[in-house]
Amino acid sequence: MRQPFLTSRLQGFGTTIFTEMTLHAQKYDALNLGQGFPNFDGPDEIKALAAESVGHGYNQYGPMPGLPDLRLAVAEHRKRFYGVEYDPDTEITITHGATEGIHVSLQALCEVGDEVVIFEPFYDSYRACIAMAGAVDRRYTLEAPDFAVDGDRLARLITDKTRAILLNTPHNPTGKVFRRSELELIADLARRHDLIVIADEVYEHLVYTDGSDGSDREAPAHIPIASLPGMRERTVTLSSAGKTFSFTGWKVGWMCAPPELTAALRTAHQFVTFSSGTAFQTAVAAALRLDDAFFTQLVDDYRQRRDFLCRGLESVGFDVIRPDGTYFVLADMRPLGFDDDVELCRVMPQKVQVAAIPPTAFYVNKSAGRHLVRFAFCKSMDLLEEGIRRLSGLSR
Ligand code: PMP
Ligand code: GLN
Repeated sequence: MRQPFLTSRLQGFGTTIFTEMTLHAQKYDALNLGQGFPNFDGPDEIKALAAESVGHGYNQYGPMPGLPDLRLAVAEHRKRFYGVEYDPDTEITITHGATEGIHVSLQALCEVGDEVVIFEPFYDSYRACIAMAGAVDRRYTLEAPDFAVDGDRLARLITDKTRAILLNTPHNPTGKVFRRSELELIADLARRHDLIVIADEVYEHLVYTDGSDGSDREAPAHIPIASLPGMRERTVTLSSAGKTFSFTGWKVGWMCAPPELTAALRTAHQFVTFSSGTAFQTAVAAALRLDDAFFTQLVDDYRQRRDFLCRGLESVGFDVIRPDGTYFVLADMRPLGFDDDVELCRVMPQKVQVAAIPPTAFYVNKSAGRHLVRFAFCKSMDLLEEGIRRLSGLSR
């Protein structure tokens, strides 16, 4: 529906699917397996630090690039987990969640008319932010069920107007973790055509290294594309505290990029938010320095939830595409006699009091995703159990 006051570049973006489906869930008192936020909080000691910071005067604007100690903690974290080094002063900027990082990157780096390659299904803010920058998206459709990348098909999307490739790995909503060989295809195109890569790595710690199909293919691992040869100098890496530490509401994120790119990013950032919650920044610095046991436990807990939800959905009759990463799972609804994700997601909260996300919200090419439905497993086991119990009513 055309909105009378909205600019033409934002026409059609409407209300985000997360808001729509959460409201729909509330209307029918449904369990929310739709919007990706945990129904539990992150570590108590990190919460206590945020509260202490509020008590100790961290209540005014922080520095525009972010608190120095948080920037240092981000640098230590990137080095500790991936061996990639960044200078906290000239190469790291704290944002209001990765959502701001995506917006700022596109505003700062794209001229009007530039093209940005994205992978479809795409996170919902990508196309809107590309449009706000006056740029144009070019889409590579990842085809279910394996979502593999074909180098020739990808190369055909590059034109003399291409400015950037916007990559998300681990990938929402498919749960795909891009393989080294696929990242090399992207890196090769970026180097050959002098492109920037914007790498959205918010699910960096949610990778299930046991693999998803029991075969002997390469075990999934999160590989930052900036760690590939010749890529650090052309990559903006985005991440945030939301997923790893289960504080999605704190909205603390970061952008890591070499000095000249960072200078451009900061020019936009200072006029978009200038800074983000100072007290939360102190706490996130401590969270990034948690010992390895925290990160191992996080994956173990999520693996258990993933396996439980996948098995449950299979028992209900869905064909499940087991994710290698993230806290989302896509399931094929056709064995249950449905074939339209929007209709199923409208009916489910009413019929069985469970809400999910219709993945076609992340597709322009709707036919590639309409047989799928996205469930989130960032929920406690008892809620997942209840969700499966309710979903079993679908097949009746
Ligand atoms: N990118 C992806 C792929 C996401 O799923 C999300 C989720 N919310 C974001 C970015 C936004 O992150 P944040 O909550 O830190 O703004
Ligand atoms: N990233 C979350 C998801 O994919 C939602 C974030 C939001 O509501 N904006 O479900």
